[in-house]
Amino acid sequence: MSETINVAAIYGENVFNDTVMQERLPKKVYKDLKKTIEEGKDLDLVTADVIAHEMKEWALEKGATHYTHWFQPLTGVTAEKHDSFISAPMPNGKVLMSFSGKELIKGEPDASSFPSGGLRATFEARGYTVWDCTSPAFVKKDQNSCVLYIPTAFCSYTGEALDQKTPLLRSMEAINEQALRFLRLFGNTTSRKVKPSVGIEQEYFLVDREKYLQREDLIFAGRTLFGAMPPKGQELDDHYFGSIRDRIANFMSAINEELWKLGVTAKTQHNEAAPAQHELAPIYMECNVAVDHNQLIMETLKKMAYRQGLHCLLHEKPFAGVNGSGKHDNWSLTTDDGKNLLDPGKTPHENIQFLLMLMCVLRSVDKHAALLRESAADPGNDLRLGAAEAPPAIISVFLGEQLSDVLNQLVETGSATHSIKGGTLETGVKAVPDFAKDATDRNRTSPFAFTGNKFEFRMTGSRDSVAGPNVVLNTIVAEALCEACDILEKAGDFEKAVHDLIKEYAIEHQRIVYNGNGYSEEWIEEAKRRGLPNLESMVDAIPALTSDSSVALFEKFNVFTRKELESREEIKYEAYAKAINIEARTMIDVASKQIIPAVVKYTKTLADAVNAVVAAGVDADVQLALLREVSGFLKEAKEALTNLEELDKEAEQKPEGKEQARFFRDAIVPAMEALRIPVDKLEMLVDKSAWPMPSYAELIFEV
Ligand code: ADP
Ligand code: MG
Repeated sequence: MSETINVAAIYGENVFNDTVMQERLPKKVYKDLKKTIEEGKDLDLVTADVIAHEMKEWALEKGATHYTHWFQPLTGVTAEKHDSFISAPMPNGKVLMSFSGKELIKGEPDASSFPSGGLRATFEARGYTVWDCTSPAFVKKDQNSCVLYIPTAFCSYTGEALDQKTPLLRSMEAINEQALRFLRLFGNTTSRKVKPSVGIEQEYFLVDREKYLQREDLIFAGRTLFGAMPPKGQELDDHYFGSIRDRIANFMSAINEELWKLGVTAKTQHNEAAPAQHELAPIYMECNVAVDHNQLIMETLKKMAYRQGLHCLLHEKPFAGVNGSGKHDNWSLTTDDGKNLLDPGKTPHENIQFLLMLMCVLRSVDKHAALLRESAADPGNDLRLGAAEAPPAIISVFLGEQLSDVLNQLVETGSATHSIKGGTLETGVKAVPDFAKDATDRNRTSPFAFTGNKFEFRMTGSRDSVAGPNVVLNTIVAEALCEACDILEKAGDFEKAVHDLIKEYAIEHQRIVYNGNGYSEEWIEEAKRRGLPNLESMVDAIPALTSDSSVALFEKFNVFTRKELESREEIKYEAYAKAINIEARTMIDVASKQIIPAVVKYTKTLADAVNAVVAAGVDADVQLALLREVSGFLKEAKEALTNLEELDKEAEQKPEGKEQARFFRDAIVPAMEALRIPVDKLEMLVDKSAWPMPSYAELIFEV
């Protein structure tokens, strides 16, 4: 792309945003819609008809032919069904382009093929998509199509949530209500709404598409299932924040342009720790919009990569031995009049509203650590968490020096009298000005870190929707705020009651705070002593969804019913089993159809060489030794393959759900590892030209 982009001009050009609505909608209609967006007031059908009409006119001007209700079922990806705007032909044989309020507000996709975890039988397939007017509609233009996208929530005929969005919106209502109660107690009478602000950093890998197409494991499983480490990995740290090569720079520029047009505030981009790994972060937004935008970011990354002869890998661990990808969920609470409830100010020890807020977050994370861990559970994340590149599977909170010092004062003396100051950073270079530094250093190893005026949840997997983690965060903090408000609203002496509560929570929940190295062995031991849960795999984490404390939490705030939680538990077990099953079958396929035949052929080449060399009257020791070594690993590989095939058949016979998921983890995963070992050894021995697929080095260093 040689022309420069006029960012301000294109930003949001494909979004039916506030400016467009204000310009195009009659005043009264605009006002009514704003009321619905801001206060959740019902929208009558006449108003909806006007909005739908204007939305359609706008979309037609952009070239749209279709509209779609865009939703987020429990498949992890988004879903859409396109309907054209055409009406039934008129007597003159022509059609009109129409779009009614009813069509805008409600859709009825046949929902029978989406995961419901037993909430619906296939014969009662009715599901509804309902317009989420708080997330703006947009048009998506592709080479030969243009479609109006309407963000929606997806639920069953009986109102149960079948998606990620419905509980997210419910959890936002819960935290709004409790945070307002909290603010009123501290004398705030002006704020009318509190919303979680969310900024999501997205990591991804780019590989060459031609090479990608030669790897069945990448195609089917999204990650490599075989692959010997190249002589050079990421040990030199020369990729992290490294200068961005032309091909990647072109990609990033294309992606930014596309995202800006869609109103996604793509802001930061850089190379990540691993070769071929990159990151993109937009500016934070309100929670549900940020979650929608993250879906758009993932889709756009894939689409643009495809257009540029690349392939974008969003898997949490595409390459063993190389850093995997995550997603950092930056979370804070913002009022409609711009206050951040997680802003400590310069002297946090004096800011009792902030201190109580902070203690409520600690309390919520400590009480529901297992649930928060579960929200980041994903088969891919099992390969990443605790592998000294991402946080361990133990939830803890990093507060940093300044706030930990305040916490210690609270625990030791019951009150905090001072805050550590930042001081100045002296670089020792005269030409560089000294500047005021933060009061706290960063810690990259913590799963849940306070970073100045927000928390950063760093456990989430790169592929996953961040709706789940935000549903949990919003609801657990709502609960803690609710409990605090219940006590404080009844208190005679408010100041004293706040003070006592801060102290009580500080003492009770200080165990969740850990500022040290989260990657270390000592921490695992220490966490065990503290009684913090260490749920190493997805299968261990899933039961947290339906624990008594989770059910009580979600039912209290109308975020999930027990039935909905049980359905999600079932879906997760199935998702785990299916993901591992696909991996196992892919390994079986690749090993039996590509690797073993290639190695067999190679042994013949070696054997021919031995014979030829011996016939020439020369010593063939080296050739013979190599042949023996290759044949040895070939035998091992074949045995491991047979074992995996047998176990996989057994796995399919297990009853679906927990038992099957456990079998996949306990029997299939180790059997897959056992097959990989001899194959990776063979890759190091076999002639490069005889190996049936591109190597790690070709995939990650030659993009
Ligand atoms: P880093 O890599 O240093 O963690 P980035 O700049 O890559 O930081 O990403 C930080 C993310 O946090 C961005 O999406 C940013 O907009 C977001 N963010 C900043 N302030 C807040 C806040 N108060 N609440 C939520 N998110 C925030
Ligand atoms: Mg970050």
